[in-house]
Amino acid sequence: MQYTTRTIPRLKSIALVGHDNMKPDLIAWCSQYKQALSQHKLYATGTTGALISHNTGLSINSLVSGPLGGDQQIGALITEQKIDVMIFFWDPLEAQPHDPDVKALLRLAAVWNIPVACNQSSADMLITSPLFDSEYQKTVPDYDSYMSARTK
Ligand code: PGA
Repeated sequence: MQYTTRTIPRLKSIALVGHDNMKPDLIAWCSQYKQALSQHKLYATGTTGALISHNTGLSINSLVSGPLGGDQQIGALITEQKIDVMIFFWDPLEAQPHDPDVKALLRLAAVWNIPVACNQSSADMLITSPLFDSEYQKTVPDYDSYMSARTK
């Protein structure tokens, strides 16, 4: 795979997802960083988004609930390069009915070189990084080269 670069803008699009047992932790984290998060464009799966919005007052673009397709919607936004960062508190102690979607979302985040935090300490480090509040050049798959190589 060839790579090209993409600039992540200073004002980021952030996806927030929390599995049911992890939602209280994610809401607490969003409350703690409410001021910082409010500078950015926020997306979330349905229930996560409704709870964060209700508990913190943050404005969220809520998608469909995760088990009903919300994880796949976030994956599609990542593929369209419309998500810059993902905070995904997935539950390591309970099986999820939509496990294939969870795996697919984490896979796409890796493919598109998305910074991902899967727990509170990683999320703390991510949001307090100097890079979080600046533009950042990252590598992404070079889709045009990929296609031209495959259609020769
Ligand atoms: P939810 O989805 O925010 O609608 O609960 C999260 C998930 O389980 O992926």
